[in-house]
Amino acid sequence: ANSVRAMAEAAPSGAKSDECVQVVVRVRPLSRKEKQDGHEANTKADESRGTIIVENPKGDDGEPPKSFTFDFVFGADTQQKGLYDKAAAPAVQAVLNGFNATVFAYGQTGAGKSHTMEGYPDPPELRGIIPNSFAHIFEEVAKADENTQYLVRASYLEIYNEEIRDLLAKDPKNRLDLKENVDSGVYVKDLTSFVVKSTHEIDQVMQAGKKNRSVGSTLMNQTSSRSHSIFTIIVEACVVSATGEHIHVGKLNLVDLAGSERQSKTGATGDRLKEATKINLSLSALGNVISA
Ligand code: ADP
Ligand code: MG
Repeated sequence: ANSVRAMAEAAPSGAKSDECVQVVVRVRPLSRKEKQDGHEANTKADESRGTIIVENPKGDDGEPPKSFTFDFVFGADTQQKGLYDKAAAPAVQAVLNGFNATVFAYGQTGAGKSHTMEGYPDPPELRGIIPNSFAHIFEEVAKADENTQYLVRASYLEIYNEEIRDLLAKDPKNRLDLKENVDSGVYVKDLTSFVVKSTHEIDQVMQAGKKNRSVGSTLMNQTSSRSHSIFTIIVEACVVSATGEHIHVGKLNLVDLAGSERQSKTGATGDRLKEATKINLSLSALGNVISA
């Protein structure tokens, strides 16, 4: 199972459900290898109750299954769009209204994070949260009335071995610095951002950046992400009304985390092992941020 967390840092008043951290769990189907090895699915999602039910296959007869409750849960037969509409669309809508939001998937390597966040371009039903959010944003931009003008910008970075790299820069292996100032808070100095005018343009920016990502294969996954990546979309809206011009800015962070790993399962050694140590270090820092 992997969990998608949608955080709206602030939300429009009245939109209570968007206001805080939401935790959503998606259970993926067993892989062919898991079936071949004789495994059975012991994690089930009760979508109407929002609970995950886990049975202990080695437990005594009559041992009751454990159940855990989340904001939403999705079973193995869940389609990408259905998950998007419930788990991500409210956060993306908040960004269009000038609030900041972050969506990320957390879980062990092979749990289905990239499948959920990115998916596959074709057929369209396999597109994940990231391409669905592109479509959502530009649909809203197209619907805007003549008094509202949008400016959409995108940037893309990865954190590899604790170093920040600009995936859209001429030299993506250069290390960038994290800075902080009173006006804009924490930011990455000299990070490239591109103005994008359509789903196609933003998708091209994403594809260009993806080519520069650090990946490597482990036993659990052919092209596992060895870095955390953040695709950021900044939506600026300028609204003209009788009282003057109002500008609001929202920022959407779409994160593909590298997997939390158990070395025994991934068979990592050498460089892969060193990467895994750094991945686990930053995931535990993330855990501290969420607790705080
Ligand atoms: P992660 O990014 O967490 O390491 P992936 O997203 O790469 O894992 O998923 C591992 C494998 O499982 C991939 O081949 C992927 O296509 C498949 N998979 C993951 N989630 C699902 C799902 N919900 N339905 C079908 N296949 C899935
Ligand atoms: Mg992945």
